[in-house]
Amino acid sequence: EDLKSEDVENIQKLGEGAAGTVWKVKHKPTGRIMAKKTITVDPDPQLQRQILRELSFLRTCGSPHIVAFYGAFLDDGDTTIAICMEYCEGGSLEDIYKRAKSMEAVIGETILAKLAEAVCMGLIHLHSHNVIHRDIKPSNILMTRQGEFKLCDLGVSGELINSMAQTFTGTQYYMAPERIKGGTYSVRSDIWSLGLSIIEVAQNQPALPPPDNPNLSIFELLDFIVHQPMPNLGADRSPECRDFIAKCLIKEPSERPGPEIMLQHPFIKNWAHLTDDITPWLKQVWGWS
Ligand code: ATP
Ligand code: MG
Repeated sequence: EDLKSEDVENIQKLGEGAAGTVWKVKHKPTGRIMAKKTITVDPDPQLQRQILRELSFLRTCGSPHIVAFYGAFLDDGDTTIAICMEYCEGGSLEDIYKRAKSMEAVIGETILAKLAEAVCMGLIHLHSHNVIHRDIKPSNILMTRQGEFKLCDLGVSGELINSMAQTFTGTQYYMAPERIKGGTYSVRSDIWSLGLSIIEVAQNQPALPPPDNPNLSIFELLDFIVHQPMPNLGADRSPECRDFIAKCLIKEPSERPGPEIMLQHPFIKNWAHLTDDITPWLKQVWGWS
């Protein structure tokens, strides 16, 4: 059964990004709570049909490591596409690390290793469907109330990516060197972005621009990513964690491991299963009782 605009009722705004707005919504016929992301696109109906067709591929992409897709439709007027997906109560890793800082909740190695493991498994799943995520970063990794990590905002619709490129204003801090250089890119480019995301979550602050050089222009920043040594975490983090990040941030894509190899890394093997239930930590972060 297809979702319809009039069956979906806004409950609360969850956040706003460069390309869209995300709402917590209720699907009235079933009572199901969902997240709805609205994106402004070109009014061309043919192009919109193409986007909706491309997005419907997400139905076949189900995995415990990917946010479930419920449907997409044209919303208010003729320039908005709405994408309905699983609502993740824990919010994004960006929300979480910011909040954790103010709650003085430490984001330990086990959390980071579980995050790395889930992202690698999600990337392997997408790769088996010939999909590259293209936008791995803390705001696109969500957590459920049960403490699971899930990827969202996958780049499955070429037409949607095109139509957003025209309105896009953000800086691509997470882009791998091969993408900056205009080369071909692969699932390994997503691994690069994972490395930067782990640093950011671990230190409650973006890895780039480099803290000692915060005012780089966009051009200088892209040049920095291609030519300069990448940051890593300090010696207060485990050697396994730092080595995992260093492997993610190998500049040459053919030398950078893919997600299958990364899953075998000692960081994941040694740290991810020290604690199985991380819901007490998530409760502490959000102050849930
Ligand atoms: P950018 O536009 O630069 O990619 P972003 O990823 O933060 O940034 P959006 O994808 O529009 O922008 O998401 C905005 C916010 O909405 C997220 O940071 C997150 O807090 C929240 N959000 C998105 N999807 C969900 C979801 N499925 N469940 C719960 N919260 C969500
Ligand atoms: Mg997003």
